[in-house]
Amino acid sequence: MGCVLFEAVRVSIPMTVKVRFAPSPTGRIHAGNVRAALVNWLFARKNQGRFVLRIDDTDLERSTKENEALIETDLTWLGLTWDERYNQSLRFDIYQKAADYLKKVGRLYPAYETAEELDRRRKVQLSRGLPPVYDRAALKLSDEERAALEAEGRKPHWRFKLDGKRVAWEDLVRGHCEVDTTSMSDPVLIREDGAFLYTLPSVVDDLDMKISHVIRGEDHVANTGTQLEIFEALSPMFADADLPVFAHMPLLVGADGEGLSKRLGSMSISQMREDGIEPLAITSHLAKIGTSDPLEAATSLDALAELQDFGKMGRAPARYDFDDLMRLNGQVLQATPYADIKPRLETAGADLGELFWDTVRMNLHTFEEVKDWATIVSGDIAPRIEDPAFAAKALELLPADYDRDSWKAWTEAIKAETGAKGKALFMPLRQALTGMDHGPDMGALSFLIGRERIAKRLSV
Ligand code: GLU
Repeated sequence: MGCVLFEAVRVSIPMTVKVRFAPSPTGRIHAGNVRAALVNWLFARKNQGRFVLRIDDTDLERSTKENEALIETDLTWLGLTWDERYNQSLRFDIYQKAADYLKKVGRLYPAYETAEELDRRRKVQLSRGLPPVYDRAALKLSDEERAALEAEGRKPHWRFKLDGKRVAWEDLVRGHCEVDTTSMSDPVLIREDGAFLYTLPSVVDDLDMKISHVIRGEDHVANTGTQLEIFEALSPMFADADLPVFAHMPLLVGADGEGLSKRLGSMSISQMREDGIEPLAITSHLAKIGTSDPLEAATSLDALAELQDFGKMGRAPARYDFDDLMRLNGQVLQATPYADIKPRLETAGADLGELFWDTVRMNLHTFEEVKDWATIVSGDIAPRIEDPAFAAKALELLPADYDRDSWKAWTEAIKAETGAKGKALFMPLRQALTGMDHGPDMGALSFLIGRERIAKRLSV
């Protein structure tokens, strides 16, 4: 059996990089989809290429405009803006032309079996220990038999006739790949009702839009085998298009190494947005898991693009650990300067100035927590006082003018007077002034809280 090798001639990146993210708007996008979108976007950015958003909405029943709009909202929020945008549902003419061409050259044939008939045959094959591959009975039908079936009211679905050979390509992640299409059923490209399934429109668009690289999850490896045969069959129709180079990324698994849990796997981007996860934490996390780069937050998408390199991507599944994501979320907030966060602080009613932000940001896990610190600094809280005598002493020693450096002098005076030191000195003060056991540096925080509130909280 011959082995046809589709060389990735351009493993060194070609002149014009054009990639696509092709979500089906049949639901919300989640971590796995976003990772595909992100890696495509970063690759385009790094190579001065174009990023295409292609809405794979050939399934008219399950696709909705609402999902489409939500996908756009999510991508935009993440910063993954697109250079071109298409809907497959508006491109049926070109898919029809491609289907007509494949029929003409004998690669697309009608088959009349019902789902039940196919199922029965598969069961027989399996019971005989045979692979459940479509037996191509439809190819053996005579014109009369076909006419008789149609007279019965049967409508055909259309299958692509595979060449039955080993299809090979050089994958940017997986290296040399081969798929043996002899072990595959001829894929159905068009359903009985005339609807195009995903496979054909995807290949037609990749050719017509001159997509240079197809970057997607490794669940598509087998598809790539059949799609490469379709690429080859259609190439006379798209004489000026090259075959794309493929990169199949390992799938995501949860922290336990098992498949993503239902909760994580289906966690939508809008849910993360509501939960206060920063877009850059999501993109840093998804860009770096499964690669040799350290799992740290990046300062921007451009910085992530600089790092993009399929050579760093391992073959093992990428661990999607929510704790890592939250750690990166803190890092993103901690690295955000006041000028950048000011509008959000204003919206949250928590803009208490640059010193406030610089004091509390190191303690934030999510942006929402900033509101609690704003209340601690300028609102009413319930102080915690376990030792009223100690609090009374601290109040007595509170400097009359409380400035930026008063904390040190004040706590030294309390230490001298009470003999308390270390945790026994600082914890009761932190608890009284903030109501909390942990938090930012008390020197700056107590200055922000101010003498009046400190005195009030110690007097309770
Ligand atoms: N709509 C397909 C999916 O979401 C696109 C796959 C591809 O990138 O070709 O799985």
